Amino acid sequence: MTAPARTLPDSRTSADLIRAEAPVLAHNYHPLPVVVARAEGVWVEDVEGRRYLDMLAGYSALNFGHRHPALIEAAHRQLDTLTLTSRAFHNDRLAEFAERLAALTGLDMVLPMNTGAEAVESAIKVARKWAYEVKGVPADRATIVVAADNFHGRTTTIVGFSTDETARAGFGPFAPGFRVVPYNDLAALREAVDETTAAVLIEPIQGEAGVVIPDDGYLAGVRELTRRENCLFVADEIQSGLGRTGRTLAVEHEEVVPDVLLLGKALGGGIVPVSAVVARREVLGVLRPGEHGSTFGGNPLAAAVGTAVVELLETGEFQRRAAELGTALRDGLTALVGRGVVGFRARGLWAGVDVDPAIGTGREISERLMREGVLVKDTHGSTIRLAPPLTITGEELAGALAALAKVLTQAA
Ligand SMILES: *Cc1c(COP(=O)(O)O)cnc(C)c1O
Repeated sequence: MTAPARTLPDSRTSADLIRAEAPVLAHNYHPLPVVVARAEGVWVEDVEGRRYLDMLAGYSALNFGHRHPALIEAAHRQLDTLTLTSRAFHNDRLAEFAERLAALTGLDMVLPMNTGAEAVESAIKVARKWAYEVKGVPADRATIVVAADNFHGRTTTIVGFSTDETARAGFGPFAPGFRVVPYNDLAALREAVDETTAAVLIEPIQGEAGVVIPDDGYLAGVRELTRRENCLFVADEIQSGLGRTGRTLAVEHEEVVPDVLLLGKALGGGIVPVSAVVARREVLGVLRPGEHGSTFGGNPLAAAVGTAVVELLETGEFQRRAAELGTALRDGLTALVGRGVVGFRARGLWAGVDVDPAIGTGREISERLMREGVLVKDTHGSTIRLAPPLTITGEELAGALAALAKVLTQAA
């Protein structure tokens, strides 16, 4: 076998780099045609030195902006000391990370993992084990109730209970044991829960679905129902958590404490993948040595960065900024309704904006915004998602809204 000829010239333009990807990189994404080479705070710079305001923030993995000085310092310090032990040994960073993360979220125990999907998978395992050992569900009969239009990651088990055909088709057979009900529908949830139910797994706000916010009372209703029916409330806050909505957690808007909380994305500060299952002791306590693991989960570099992230959130500054600037974002979008925007949903510094399909698809709007120096991502159809770093200033946010107003009035 001969390897294909290498095509990259020595001096690489954005166009060269995009062209070079196509034959060698799996096509599981359809990126905007921008090649980022550097970034700081809310700004990224491409290969040619053009600057863009990052209004996606790595799907909320960059809540603190690119290369936040405190996070970079924590990472550098740890890189110079210890990076990996595996959990075969203890490391000197993990206890503090777990203790402070539990305290931040009001729960007791932490299971450190790496990616969001792994946290979801881990929660499914823990919920099933809890159902058999604590609730007394007959062996292999546990069910987990999930919501339509969910997004919980990309593993085979997780896409098996997705309702998005693009995410599912061609990847079966799928794991049994899941029941799908409409989101934001307590009556349907009540119908689906029975004596086999281990858990109800939902996003407090559905990010990928287009920042779909349930009615007031839904999350409190889920809490009440799961408590009454003796099953676990698992809240996937991988995207909604850690400051994005103006609170540390989105469930706090309804003063709800879930049994199991899933965190990821921003927990790694945009530096390393860090996720966690955080839960009450009676729940995570079902795991005993040898029953679950991860080579990289809880590694000292992840723990050091994760601890620095928790430290930033302990100040309350980022939650406060998200809440205050969230008002400006909402006001700015309200002013665009009827002027290219059909409707929007927003909480904190997070919005799903439905653009008039006559003006363009979400993808086309994203490309036009890119040419105006603003990076966003479409979700479905004509919906775009705005989720800037929580470090964005009022002026920068106003600039992004002005760019949006401009592209909405441009002819297609
Ligand atoms: C991104 C996301 C995941 C999956 O996280 P990965 O790190 O990409 O595996 C799970 N749940 C929600 C709500 C997410 O937004």
